[in-house]
Amino acid sequence: MPSSSRRAVFLDRDGVINDSMPVNGSPHSPASLDELRILPGVPEACARLKQAGFLLIVVTNQPDIARRKATKASVDALNQALRDQLPLDDVFVCPHDDPDNCGCRKPKPGLLTDAAKRWDIDLDASFMVGDRWRDVEAGQAAGCRTVFVDHGYNERRPVNPDFTTHSLLEATPSIIESHAKVIMTPTVQGLKIKIFADGADKARMLELYGNPAVKGFTTNPTLMRQAGIADYEAFAKDILAHIPDRPISFEVFSDDFDDMERQALKIASWGPNVFAKIPVTNSKSESSAALIRRLVQKGVQLNVTAILTAPQIDEVVDALKGTRHSYVSVFAGRIADTGRDPLPFMIQAVKACNAAGGMEVIWASPRELLNIFQGDEIGCHVITVTPDIIKKLGTVGKDLNGYSLDTVKMFYNDGAAAGYRL
Ligand SMILES: [Mg+2]
Ligand SMILES: [Zn+2]
Repeated sequence: MPSSSRRAVFLDRDGVINDSMPVNGSPHSPASLDELRILPGVPEACARLKQAGFLLIVVTNQPDIARRKATKASVDALNQALRDQLPLDDVFVCPHDDPDNCGCRKPKPGLLTDAAKRWDIDLDASFMVGDRWRDVEAGQAAGCRTVFVDHGYNERRPVNPDFTTHSLLEATPSIIESHAKVIMTPTVQGLKIKIFADGADKARMLELYGNPAVKGFTTNPTLMRQAGIADYEAFAKDILAHIPDRPISFEVFSDDFDDMERQALKIASWGPNVFAKIPVTNSKSESSAALIRRLVQKGVQLNVTAILTAPQIDEVVDALKGTRHSYVSVFAGRIADTGRDPLPFMIQAVKACNAAGGMEVIWASPRELLNIFQGDEIGCHVITVTPDIIKKLGTVGKDLNGYSLDTVKMFYNDGAAAGYRL
């Protein structure tokens, strides 16, 4: 199936564009031009949706024509009046009533599918906005996402609209944003966030150094111990001989602040691309802020790590003031593991570091590939990524239809290979 490039917002008319004049909780169509009142915010919403690249197409049931309570001419006159005042691209009318059993009366999708043919519209990338269940069901039947404008009518409510709002204007940001998220094909090249690899295995680090997507490295004593490294300094110097030109963090391992300072100065002396990694507190829960200030004054580039709270972010950013270049490493994944959303923490850290200058935020301990894109969206500077997530970079932007088919084939092949019979 050829994919169409155009996208539309389908607009129900009465109750979305113009006042539906409810009587005892039931909406009505305006009978004539002097009853036609465009609802507040509709001109602004239409302008913003047009600017975002949507066609604006009215799809309206007008059963009063079949019921002989209105003429086609009077309905056309009202529609023309709306087109004169709003940037509408087209209007599709169903003049029938239920007994006509037509294909266009909503909840049937005929008006939307006719419009899609005439305008070459991608229905999957389009939205249906309406104030009644018939609108939402027509949109769902056409494969659109749906917006229910809830006026509290005394009637059945639609099931599972994607958004529920009180006006077209209120729905407009959701339409524009969710459109961008679904349509965008993410790419690794399009990322502004820098990917750092977390690890301590030499062969693996050198392999990643050959990957231009990996812009830096972090290590920690836990990973180094797991990798069986006995001589810390020899390991670090060996790695730095091979990786002299990308940021790399080595962590102090003392618990005493004077000794940490000595270790940090030594680590910093190993090369211009080296960052001394300092935990936000020692193991007695004493703040490292004073040590951080001393090291900043001595010109040491730091990576302050194990940050998990909002006060810690503020304290560390304040202590780092005056640094040429340091990292504030917030453990988003560990925050998420407690059931808390890490995004507000990360946004706070990005704002504070940008305001202070000289500092970059590291999204540490990511849990899934999506975290790279979440970090990128909020302007986070760096994300440390584990080898299993780096392997998944190959699926970024993969076509979802193709991916679905791969999944179906995998199930089929495994079922066949197992020789299952039913
Ligand atoms: Mg309506
Ligand atoms: Zn019809």
